[in-house]
Amino acid sequence: MGEEKLETTDDPQNSLGTVRRVEAASDAMTPFEAATYFFHRSADRLNMRDEVRAVLSTSYRELAVQIPVKYEDGSIHVHRGYRVQHNGARGPYKGGIRYAASVDMDEVRALAALMTWKNALIDVPYGGAKGGVHCDPTTMSHLEKERLTRRFTAMISYIIGVNRDIPAPDMGTDAQTMAWMMDEYGRKNGYTPGIVTGKPVELGGSPGREEATGRGVIICAQKATQSVGMTFADSTIAIQGFGNVGYWTAKLAQEVGAKVVAVSDVRGGIHNANGLDIDTVLKHSRDAGSVQGYHDAEDVSNDELLELPCDVLIPAAIHGVIRSDNAASIKAKLMVEAANGPTTPAADEILIERGITVVPDILANTGGVTVSYFEWVQNIQQFRWELDQVNDELEKRMTRATTHVFERAEANNITLRDAAFDIGVDRVRSAAEVRGYV
Ligand code: NAD
Repeated sequence: MGEEKLETTDDPQNSLGTVRRVEAASDAMTPFEAATYFFHRSADRLNMRDEVRAVLSTSYRELAVQIPVKYEDGSIHVHRGYRVQHNGARGPYKGGIRYAASVDMDEVRALAALMTWKNALIDVPYGGAKGGVHCDPTTMSHLEKERLTRRFTAMISYIIGVNRDIPAPDMGTDAQTMAWMMDEYGRKNGYTPGIVTGKPVELGGSPGREEATGRGVIICAQKATQSVGMTFADSTIAIQGFGNVGYWTAKLAQEVGAKVVAVSDVRGGIHNANGLDIDTVLKHSRDAGSVQGYHDAEDVSNDELLELPCDVLIPAAIHGVIRSDNAASIKAKLMVEAANGPTTPAADEILIERGITVVPDILANTGGVTVSYFEWVQNIQQFRWELDQVNDELEKRMTRATTHVFERAEANNITLRDAAFDIGVDRVRSAAEVRGYV
């Protein structure tokens, strides 16, 4: 990438106000380096001033907290929690909370920056943030997760707020986690449903929020398959991840007639070239603790799943799974990034060379934050929407943003990822400038 014009420290991750341009795409980049790599490419195309680049390439605020939790066996585990507010030029900070063993400041910082670009791209009035706790929620009891969540909420309560920063679920967290967060925040601040989104419907959650990310993925995938001369309903799909996003993407793909030939979870995947019945797979996975061992499919590894013959590949689990050592073996014609950051910058270049169309994460997975926005609006107005209204508004916004990205990519002869970054980054730049941030 372009030469370094301004570099104020050697450690871009630990210094706010640093500008450092990433030189070359590689698999070794950390999640934040990868997110920053795509940002700087966009900043170059937009001829961004260095001062603006300095503000937009770093976080506004980063909080790390210590969370001691008493486990049911009497032992005390000290977890590390994070909340990063990347940029608030366009509105209150917004982004999910992740519980996973991979969580550290770098990962949360990367996810917060991606939230800034995606919120601007889908045009919801938010800045970008993300939070997380380093833990393994799969080994924790219900009570241990509740204690962890309440303590974490109390510790970040000083920097969140309905008009300041609104968390939501992400990997390892769900509607129950949001219910605890809302309840804990309410102890000090009174009844405040708009403090989190992705809540259970009985606590002010929105109809349609649970499946919203998957629904948005399908809307993008339908448009993208048309662009490569295919019909989504006639295509075969492989999906990595079978949690909230993976399951709903698979279920809705099947509903519109597509054939889901493979799904996976952390333990591994399953494949049946004739198609899987998604609800039966869900039942098996609940009973067996994994999709693996499903009677009507062969077991495959997560790596093998990515290389299966299919029309559309949908990574819907973790970051950095498409790398330079497997990008050449991907057989899909189209990849739709439901997960955040699934493709390393080095792999991205290989996919571009191979002519594989990639719908980037900051477009493909915005359905969740879009319906989170509808939930927040309902909470503020104390007025509940019907499911049809939620789904219609979601479809309108996803279609508008997707069309915009495709048109910009074509007009400027750039990839969909570059077009999506350019639209999102330019909107944030413009808001930051008129507010007088830079
Ligand atoms: P989830 O916790 O509900 O499910 C995660 C799935 O990934 C599970 O099936 C899990 O077994 C699997 N998994 C975990 N580690 C894995 C590994 N090493 N290899 C393969 N599979 C693995 O999480 P989710 O909410 O479905 O989120 C999935 C992805 O989508 C994440 O990247 C998240 O940031 C992104 N995302 C989620 C939302 C949302 O609304 N939940 C919105 C936008 C983006």
